[in-house]
Amino acid sequence: MRLDYNKIGNFIINERKAKKMTQVDLAKHLYVSEKTISKWETGRGVPDTNTLPKLCEIFGITINELLNGERFSKEEYIDKAEGKLLELEEVKQNSDKRLLAMEIVIGFLSVIFLLSLTALASFLMMPDWLRIMIIVFGLTISMVGILFALKIEQVAGYYICSKCNHKYVPTYHQVLWALHVNRTRYMKCPHCHKRAWHKKVIK
Ligand SMILES: [Zn+2]
Repeated sequence: MRLDYNKIGNFIINERKAKKMTQVDLAKHLYVSEKTISKWETGRGVPDTNTLPKLCEIFGITINELLNGERFSKEEYIDKAEGKLLELEEVKQNSDKRLLAMEIVIGFLSVIFLLSLTALASFLMMPDWLRIMIIVFGLTISMVGILFALKIEQVAGYYICSKCNHKYVPTYHQVLWALHVNRTRYMKCPHCHKRAWHKKVIK
């Protein structure tokens, strides 16, 4: 079962018009831009998990109806419900996987970049001030790369508490300062408040 963006788009148009709302009205209610609404309605995107509940509340429909692009009768409801939610979850999982792969590339490139500039500054004849400038430049760029990679580490997927199995997204500060082995970090669980090694999971 795949999400049919065009069907969902038409459904949103119909439900919006039934509520006598313009794209601007709807955008205001959802705190998104008019462009976003138009993107959904033309099948170039679907609402994300943050806006979905509010949108469905406005239309008086369920999330599953929205993701199927139609209102259900009671009997249909049970059948169609589960699949679409799982699919939306899958979309997030795939994008998280891509982000985490990108994080490795960014981290790797940052280190290579710094090493090459350091080698250049060490082996080529040049005035000392230039040598220092090159190394400072290399350090700055690779720091930015590493901080960016850590940002990805924070937002993609979840960490799971080894004591209570609570899944959560940590703050950037937590991720930045936590001891870690690969993607497993020593952090304080927001649920049970115990410190432990928390593993990164995609779902
Ligand atoms: Zn916990």
